[in-house]
Amino acid sequence: MTTTEAPAPAFRYIGTTDETNVCEDCGRSDLQRAVVLALLDADGNVEDRVRYGSDCAARALSIRGGGRAVAKAAENARIATLKAAAEAYERAERLLFDPATGEPTHERGFARTVGTMIRFNGGPGRWTDRGEAEQFTRQLIERSVQAVQDARLLGIADPARELRRLGYA
Ligand SMILES: [Zn+2]
Repeated sequence: MTTTEAPAPAFRYIGTTDETNVCEDCGRSDLQRAVVLALLDADGNVEDRVRYGSDCAARALSIRGGGRAVAKAAENARIATLKAAAEAYERAERLLFDPATGEPTHERGFARTVGTMIRFNGGPGRWTDRGEAEQFTRQLIERSVQAVQDARLLGIADPARELRRLGYA
């Protein structure tokens, strides 16, 4: 093997934003909107979040279809991000944790959530185990915090309201 080309970094689309008109890749400052991407490490964890122009994103991440394909995918991701964040806020209220940090907002918040998981899913052999329910709860909270962070990166503090504004119920 003589190739020296680094593999394209793994990433996922978060959406688009008009909060900035600067491309963090090349420094160009006349973007109509930036595409927001999460760069992932080998385990799929978010290593960094970047805002690029669509053409730069296509080049930096070796995305087929170029800037147009990137812009379209990012536009679709924006809606998915808003929906996930709106769900996360609802879940945080129900399960008594802070959507920004994942910290419990009630003294017994986490324990109560785990109890809920055991009760509601303790039917035919699911989540009857406390350890499993705890792990599931932690993952659920982690995903929720992530979704809220993603939406904030798009400049959206109230995803439910933004979805209604865009005509999503
Ligand atoms: Zn650029």
